[in-house]
Amino acid sequence: MMSESPKDTVRAAVADVFGRPLKSLRLSVTDRCNLRCKYCMPEQDYVWLPREDVLTLEEMATLTGYFTDLGVDRVRLTGGEPLLRRDLPRLVHLLLQNLRLTDIALTTNGVLLADQAEELYEAGLHRITVSLDTLRPERFLQLTRRDEFARVMEGIESVARAGFTGLKLDTVAIRGFNDDELVALIEFGRQVQAEVRFIEYMDVGGANEWSQDKVLSQAAILTILSERYGMIEPMPERGAAPAQRFLLRDGTTFGIIPSTTTPFCAACDRSRVTADGMWYRCLYATSGTDLRQSLRAGASADEMRALIRTGWEGRRDRGAEERKALERDGLRVGGLIGIEKLREDPHLEMHARGG
Ligand code: SAM
Ligand code: SF4
Ligand code: SF4
Repeated sequence: MMSESPKDTVRAAVADVFGRPLKSLRLSVTDRCNLRCKYCMPEQDYVWLPREDVLTLEEMATLTGYFTDLGVDRVRLTGGEPLLRRDLPRLVHLLLQNLRLTDIALTTNGVLLADQAEELYEAGLHRITVSLDTLRPERFLQLTRRDEFARVMEGIESVARAGFTGLKLDTVAIRGFNDDELVALIEFGRQVQAEVRFIEYMDVGGANEWSQDKVLSQAAILTILSERYGMIEPMPERGAAPAQRFLLRDGTTFGIIPSTTTPFCAACDRSRVTADGMWYRCLYATSGTDLRQSLRAGASADEMRALIRTGWEGRRDRGAEERKALERDGLRVGGLIGIEKLREDPHLEMHARGG
């Protein structure tokens, strides 16, 4: 819910230490998930966020309102698996009341999408991204440890039927896992009128199987695709967008998010709020600001905005660039966050933080 109308206030935009504005918010609506992707949730058991700490949809909309007062204009709903959150269309509806938001998107694993796409479209959701790493059911099972490939396919098909355009398919490109499916994924994207975006494998919280040699770099992805498609042209500068987009000769476009080899920290305008209201200014940040506590303690709108403003103005995060520097100096071997530390603080996990 918006705390002030855009008509009566000039938006008080803020910038961090490096002059980066606060523009984009990833809002995790739950840390629960119905898949167990090995690169995101490698363990059998998890410490979940306590239920009573999870924000209500109204609290999420209110917090989003403070962020939009300070410059945010794009929100992406994520998780865990966001479609596990009951009443998600109602959150979309609440967010739509906020006239400062120009883009409300959703990232989902697609398992529950066929059941919910229509309702989400009617609620006013703008865009959907489905994560899809393979077109082979047996590989899907191996990666996600759940036999849900068919439902994901149904989910993808339901998107256009519900009325959405601009579907994106996000694929984590992993050497030795799906590097032989890049062309097939582009072709599949064409069939379902979706743009495919390849994401370089990142060493996030739970990715304890991560290793440098499994990262399929942007350069390697382009080499594989050009063997099939010939010349690939980069499209104009990506600005603050994480994906660099490319054009094939037949007009098909695709994206690469080179988070590991070519970090985009310099232009990064996004931050993340977990389902229990912890605010992280970087995907890799190990500490954040507890917005839930202040909100539930009755902080005024001005106090909440001051908290966010101060947090953003002090932001120095360049997590991916720092990791890359460690690699360059040979100080990096395996994953950076040990499993013991992850067990102590569930917020450090990718599935809590929303990708
Ligand atoms: N459950 C939803 C889904 O999978 O789309 C939303 C949350 S998920 C954490 C968001 C995104 O993070 C997904 O596209 C997923 O593939 C990506 N992701 C998770 N772990 C990753 C990793 N280690 N490297 C790169 N991307 C990762
Ligand atoms: Fe997979 Fe998304 Fe669930 Fe992580 S949160 S296990 S990426 S479906
Ligand atoms: Fe932004 Fe942090 Fe990712 Fe860099 S590592 S792009 S600062 S979220």
